[in-house]
Amino acid sequence: MLNLESRLQCLKGVGHKRAQAFAKLGIKTIEDVLTFFPSQYQDRTKIIPIKNAYKEQQSCCIFGKVGKVYERIFTNGLYILDVEIFDSTSMAYIRFFRKRKIYSSFDIFASIKRVFKTGVFAYVYGEVKIRYNDNFILVNDYEIVEKESDIPLFFNKIVPIYPTTRKISQAYIRACINSVLRSHLHDYPDVSGLLPTCNYILKMSASTALKKIHYPDSLKDAESARRAFALQEFFVMEAAFYLSQNNLKKSRKKQKYLLKPNLLERLEQNLKFKFTSDQQRAIRDIFTDMQSEYPMNRILIGDVGCGKTVVALSATLLAIESGYQAMIIVPTEILAEQHYCTMLSLLSGIGVKIALLTSSSLRKIDQRKMILAGLESNDIQVAIGTHALIEDRIKFASLSLIVIDEQHRFGVMQKSAALKKVSYPDILVMSATPIPRALSMIIHGEIDVTTIKQLPPGRLPVITHVLDERNAYQKTIEELKNGSQAYIVYPLIDGYDKLDLKSVVRESKILSQTWFRNFRVELFHGRLESSEKNKVLIKFKSKEIDVLISTAIIEVGIDIPNATVMIIQHAERFGLSQLHQLRGRIGRSDKQSYLYLVRKSEAKSGSADERIKIIESINDGFKIAEADLKMRGPGVLMSTIQHGFSKFKAGDIVKDLDIIKYAKNCAKEVIDDDPTLSKEKNFILKKLISKRFSYGDERDFINVC
Ligand code: ADP
Ligand code: MG
Repeated sequence: MLNLESRLQCLKGVGHKRAQAFAKLGIKTIEDVLTFFPSQYQDRTKIIPIKNAYKEQQSCCIFGKVGKVYERIFTNGLYILDVEIFDSTSMAYIRFFRKRKIYSSFDIFASIKRVFKTGVFAYVYGEVKIRYNDNFILVNDYEIVEKESDIPLFFNKIVPIYPTTRKISQAYIRACINSVLRSHLHDYPDVSGLLPTCNYILKMSASTALKKIHYPDSLKDAESARRAFALQEFFVMEAAFYLSQNNLKKSRKKQKYLLKPNLLERLEQNLKFKFTSDQQRAIRDIFTDMQSEYPMNRILIGDVGCGKTVVALSATLLAIESGYQAMIIVPTEILAEQHYCTMLSLLSGIGVKIALLTSSSLRKIDQRKMILAGLESNDIQVAIGTHALIEDRIKFASLSLIVIDEQHRFGVMQKSAALKKVSYPDILVMSATPIPRALSMIIHGEIDVTTIKQLPPGRLPVITHVLDERNAYQKTIEELKNGSQAYIVYPLIDGYDKLDLKSVVRESKILSQTWFRNFRVELFHGRLESSEKNKVLIKFKSKEIDVLISTAIIEVGIDIPNATVMIIQHAERFGLSQLHQLRGRIGRSDKQSYLYLVRKSEAKSGSADERIKIIESINDGFKIAEADLKMRGPGVLMSTIQHGFSKFKAGDIVKDLDIIKYAKNCAKEVIDDDPTLSKEKNFILKKLISKRFSYGDERDFINVC
């Protein structure tokens, strides 16, 4: 018996190859077929009389009897097939184009001629082309019927248009969806029964909504169905949230913090600077939260380089001082190591025990044993690491504070998994990407926000210029001679441009033997061994390296204030936010820093030009994020903010704010009434939550059921 989870290969006619082609579209199971929604619709409800066809401005549908067929071949390899279509009002030509090597013996139009036989009837959808002496309808889609009265499948109605690939045609995908809709539509789990009626979202069962999304009666109908389906999607997600957070805000926490100036004062003595007033305010907000009887759930947003790390460190010290443990979770190993080193030096002499937990540090048995035992006995007070920290085997004696750095790189599910380590932890999330309020509400639920707007005093805005390679190198060398250090960043591009790791390695070798032969140059990229990466960074920090040639891996968190120059090669390849993040690696001291953007590709691209112009003229990360949002649309922002965020099939997190709000309220009511979802009526919801949020990368899920 097939069910929604059955793999596509179980379907008749789908073999290994087809399944692979489907996987490219994200379709692996029967359920994926059901929820593979049209990317757009074509309104083919209006069939116009042929005598009016050439008066249409754009595309139109006609219906008529097939007459003669004319074929022409041009010397440039262009093949044209014109077909006469008659109705009672007139005749029009419909046209097919193909391009192919000339004089090929293969009959390129054979399959079309086979169906367009004189005397059959054809529905045709196409673009009207009016040329001097040559009017025709360029065929976009057609359907042949034997008799005039036969009812067509894809005409006289709104027609779904699905994303396709070279191997999966529109017709094939339609047939596939049609067959799965027939056999499995009613298997789709429905939670509409748990949702009270709402006057702006039509109430629909999941199966009705699914059917109408694929085969709507009108465009309006399609939209209402999409909204109804989106409501169910958001509802399940919000319920998962409430379930995993267990109404975080309302629950009193156990941990109590006592502010003793001891450790904090010593931290301040170790710092070579004074906190900015924004940092002080942030620390105040955080301490107030921590000392309240409810768990903290706060996000600290501040542009790259504004000094979030020391704020987090202060929070950590408050926890430690009160006898608790803290965990700081970051997206990459290098960042973990960086933070580890920073904290070791800032906390030196203070007597706090810190451990680094990454996949590599846990690989060594002795080290692993020591760390695990240390955490379980409260001997280690701070654990800094990547998502290795979330693993089940890592147990804490008295964890109370979780800091999540560079939140935009994390999945919501990773965050939720971290929360499982302890009941009612205090959570501090840090991000350089200002997330629109609405999105943040979805990602974090109810969360308090603190923004750091100031940069540390004396920081000069990075001067950014587009230069040719030669000039960029010359200017960089001048800075190097003044004792600065530099980054040269390459994008990694596979395939068409062939800028793979090998070519980056090669280019760096060439640079080190030519332009930079008088300097110490080192290469840095993601595939270096972790210990090797660390060695290079330590050498760079201690000025034993002048130029670090790197991939975009240095994007997050690396803090080497003496590096004041950066060249970004192939700048046209990077997105706005990434360019800004990269730029955040320089301008970290009171020395003037410079970013040189080198464009490599000859091809002019409007959006690349615009990105580069924005980076050249704007330094404010918040404004850049706004511009990025405008240029790329929120979907893309969402995907950079949230790897691991389950994708919505019908829901659109920007357009559907009203639905999200409503879903949130509904979910809250359900969970308040049944906090563990054990009532029978909530059974399907519970199952859906565990299904949607507990497969894939094992580290990413909320283990709720
Ligand atoms: P981010 O907010 O991007 O995480 P970091 O915490 O890495 O920024 O801080 C950037 C740099 O600024 C670090 O070298 C840090 O030591 C320094 N810094 C932080 N706060 C101050 C301050 N108040 N005055 C001077 N330098 C500071
Ligand atoms: Mg940081």
